[in-house]
Amino acid sequence: MKYVVPYKQIFDATIEARPPLCKKGYPETPVSPKRVSFFGGCCDVTTTIKWATTVQKPIDNQAIIATDLTKWFGEGETKTIAVNAVGLVAHFGEMLFIVGPSGSGKTTMLSMISGILRPNAGKVTVKGIDIWTLNNDQLADFRLNTVGFVFQDYHLFPRLTTAENVAIPLILKQRDWNESITEATKYLEIVGLKDRGEILPVKLSGGEQQRVAIARAIISSPEILILDEPTASLDGDTGKKIIAFVKEKILNKSRCILIVTHDARINEYADRILHMEDGHISASDKGTQ
Ligand code: ADP
Ligand code: MG
Repeated sequence: MKYVVPYKQIFDATIEARPPLCKKGYPETPVSPKRVSFFGGCCDVTTTIKWATTVQKPIDNQAIIATDLTKWFGEGETKTIAVNAVGLVAHFGEMLFIVGPSGSGKTTMLSMISGILRPNAGKVTVKGIDIWTLNNDQLADFRLNTVGFVFQDYHLFPRLTTAENVAIPLILKQRDWNESITEATKYLEIVGLKDRGEILPVKLSGGEQQRVAIARAIISSPEILILDEPTASLDGDTGKKIIAFVKEKILNKSRCILIVTHDARINEYADRILHMEDGHISASDKGTQ
């Protein structure tokens, strides 16, 4: 469990404080008068009643609905409005690109959508759940079970092997160590890195490290997968291959993938493209593939 600490720092996950995990489903009818399961976690009935009232039935196949999402940093003269009253809808089965120049608010927006950064105003509804009304434990569950986030610089732990890196979300869920490593090895195979599980990330190329980060993000089978500038540190060909791979192998009907990029070379893989500028969504168009 010594490896839990750095991961906690990134995701602010409060694994020890959380109640034991239940099987999937949200929000379910109480299984007993006292304990109920929801969204991969447990809570008491009082909390669930509150939940039940905040859950809206998702329309069609809408995965994410953001409304009037706003975030600023600093106050007074130093105040920067990073995201300004943004609205967006993303669907299951869709690979949605968010493009725009550096500093336009892309990372800030996705951090709010993925439950990492609390907005100053606005609402994020994921699968019908208003995520910013959740308490800290529920948010930690949401980040652990529903969202996979692939960071621009991978955030792999250099002293852990690739398989251990991929296994982290399972370890955080208190799954058995050996079982987690076996599962991680399967996911390494999915991303084309079979037999690389025992080596340290530093021995891998940039593209391979990106795949390890993707394997770690999908090992919990998250329905929402977010990749922030996945090709920024890769050469053009490798970047395209990674995105083609994500589209072919990772996207499916019950998954929604959001990709932030300012790399126009990969736009052809988008189902839809939202353009961001100065904290606003300025335009929307269809991808070409
Ligand atoms: P992008 O991902 O499109 O490059 P960001 O979301 O990182 O843009 O940043 C949007 C704006 O918000 C920028 O002006 C950036 O400097 C500012 N910003 C982002 N994070 C912080 C922060 N933690 N503190 C202060 N300003 C920030
Ligand atoms: Mg960014």
